[in-house]
Amino acid sequence: MSVQLDTPITYLPGVGPQRAQVLESELGITTFRHLLYYFPYKHIDRTRLYYIHELTADMPFVQVRGEILSFEEEGHGRKRHLIAHFTDGQSIIDLIWFQATTFKWIRKNYQVGKLYIVFGRPNVFNGRMNIAHPDVDPADALQLGSMGMQPYYNTSDKMKKRGLNSRSIERFTRTLFEKIESEGTDIRTHDYLPPSLRQQLVLVPLWQSLHDLHFPDTADALRKATYRQKFEELFFIQLGILRFTRQRQQQVHGHVFARVGDFFNSFFHHHLPFSLTNAQKRVIREMRHDMGSGKQMNRLLQGDVGSGKTLVALMTMLIALDNGYQACLMAPTEILAEQHYDTFRQMLGDMPVRVELLTGAVKGKRRREPILEGTRTGEVHILIGTHAVLEDNVEFHRLGLAVIDEQHRFGVAQRARLWRKNEIPPHVLVMTATPIPRTLAMTLYGDLDVSIIDELPPGRKPIETRHFWQERTESLYRGIRAEVQKGRQVYVVYPLIKESEKMDMQDLENGFEELCRAFPDLQISKIHGKMRPAEKDAEMERFVHGETQILVATTVIEVGVNVPNASVMVIQNAERFGLAQLHQLRGRVGRGADQSYCILVTKYNLAQDTRKRIDIMCDTNDGFEIAEADLKFRGPGDLEGTQQSGMAFDLHIANIARDGQLVQLARDTANRILDEDPTQSLPEYAAMWTHLRELNQNDIDWSNIS
Ligand code: ADP
Ligand code: MG
Repeated sequence: MSVQLDTPITYLPGVGPQRAQVLESELGITTFRHLLYYFPYKHIDRTRLYYIHELTADMPFVQVRGEILSFEEEGHGRKRHLIAHFTDGQSIIDLIWFQATTFKWIRKNYQVGKLYIVFGRPNVFNGRMNIAHPDVDPADALQLGSMGMQPYYNTSDKMKKRGLNSRSIERFTRTLFEKIESEGTDIRTHDYLPPSLRQQLVLVPLWQSLHDLHFPDTADALRKATYRQKFEELFFIQLGILRFTRQRQQQVHGHVFARVGDFFNSFFHHHLPFSLTNAQKRVIREMRHDMGSGKQMNRLLQGDVGSGKTLVALMTMLIALDNGYQACLMAPTEILAEQHYDTFRQMLGDMPVRVELLTGAVKGKRRREPILEGTRTGEVHILIGTHAVLEDNVEFHRLGLAVIDEQHRFGVAQRARLWRKNEIPPHVLVMTATPIPRTLAMTLYGDLDVSIIDELPPGRKPIETRHFWQERTESLYRGIRAEVQKGRQVYVVYPLIKESEKMDMQDLENGFEELCRAFPDLQISKIHGKMRPAEKDAEMERFVHGETQILVATTVIEVGVNVPNASVMVIQNAERFGLAQLHQLRGRVGRGADQSYCILVTKYNLAQDTRKRIDIMCDTNDGFEIAEADLKFRGPGDLEGTQQSGMAFDLHIANIARDGQLVQLARDTANRILDEDPTQSLPEYAAMWTHLRELNQNDIDWSNIS
């Protein structure tokens, strides 16, 4: 009988119940299949042997053949270590172990005078060449030729304590492969990627790719196997997303906004204070097309800070109004909601559009009730708010369009609540100012169509970004004064991170006092998250109206706030912010026609990647470039915003940052196959669709992605 891949791992010879438990708790491996798909993170070429005299301290892993001459213990207490003097017949090198508990075992198992192959990273210690914590194998037990490229598997400390290391995983995996080679299994001969596809894209067969990912004979074999597995992983994700999207498009109909009428036209011709950028025109066209098509629009609008997304949102809403529908706009914070409200009122001027604001701060029956009533009857055309607009007591007469601003603050679940507000779901426009690299967007928001505003309104001068050491307050203050004398305003931002809140508040207070002393003649505002909303708003208002020249704040001002007269953004302790956040903050200035500055203030001692972040900020103003860099630094899992928006799956082998082209190829291929086989009935693709269904059951919750 052939090997069943769903067999519990405990049945693999050499594993047993205890190790099985560790494999499960530490690596999530419970079945043969999981082990097969637990890929090594690297391989090391073990075909070559070195002479000791060839070794230098900057070499990667090497192996040497020889014998142990003698053992010796040195040092005391925590510095105690065991040394084995090892020779290849010509020179001598020290093998060193630092864990005292292992000394006995080592002395017993590694014998003087026996031939070993020793493997590790050469180093210099006390002026002598050594290898610390080497792998030591009897030379007759290792067949170097057949070891070829040796796989290295991630293991945890807990596993190592239980005697399970990379070599153990390697042994288990070898056992499994041998078992399958002799007894067979379905995937040895069976491949769910159709032959035509494999041929076109030059992909190695499934079984070969699995084998070569663990035990390749050559670097080239490893490369081909990796390529196949990465493609496969990305391809099935795209196939799943696109199939889901197409289904939804077929089943869910959208309100048809057939016309563009008075609201839109009168705004466009009489109220618009400037002309639209070409990018703004293009994305409005894209949305008009979506909303007129009978499909439900699900669109992600990306645009760098200051690219004019708010205006695009407003004009899209006017199309909804022209067709007799209402629209709502959700913002992540009250300040931002209020600002949108003010902006909308101001832009719409005397147009007969009723805009209302609903936030947590709008309390009391007398104030809330008319807004809710108007929303219910349809007299309120546009409702702006925070999460409050999602509450159950908010009923719309005919909600046609929901706009979600600065999406990364809104969870998936919250977005889903919108759908439930009406029988026919409203068109949805998600706006984000944290640009997401295309390839990530394709995976993360794969079911959303993407519009990009890739152009800033004319006349903006690029923000000049500079790095200051903390010690240079004097020249920093000179710069601030010079700007204030020109009539400009200045932000000074401090990080506020939960765990160390007290200390951060202290930083902010100290900074505030210091500024007050340095600029006794200026008005200085202070805003932080602990203030009551009304207080915060009042203080913000003062700054917005130019009554105060300097605003000292925590990151509450991060998103969306718009004070065109502000020309300097000072970010204190900039080393503590991520790239995306720094870019967001910087986007608060540079909104007028004047030269603006962003000053990143850091302590003197910077870690290397912090240094890199600061350099990137100083080098570019391009949000997309910054997002790409961020993705490369931190990986998509850590990317700001992506966690909340819910990556519904983990990538196993592919890496969105590095495999961008492959994401595109996977998506194009998936689209082509869905075109070719829309009913999923071609026999050629049957195995592929089955595999997709299995994946969906096991790993991926597609409904989470929208
Ligand atoms: P964001 O994309 O960051 O939300 P906003 O919508 O807040 O950007 O726009 C930033 C500023 O640019 C606002 O003051 C807005 O009035 C202005 N603006 C938007 N579109 C244009 C345009 N086409 N020409 C000139 N200024 C514009
Ligand atoms: Mg905005």
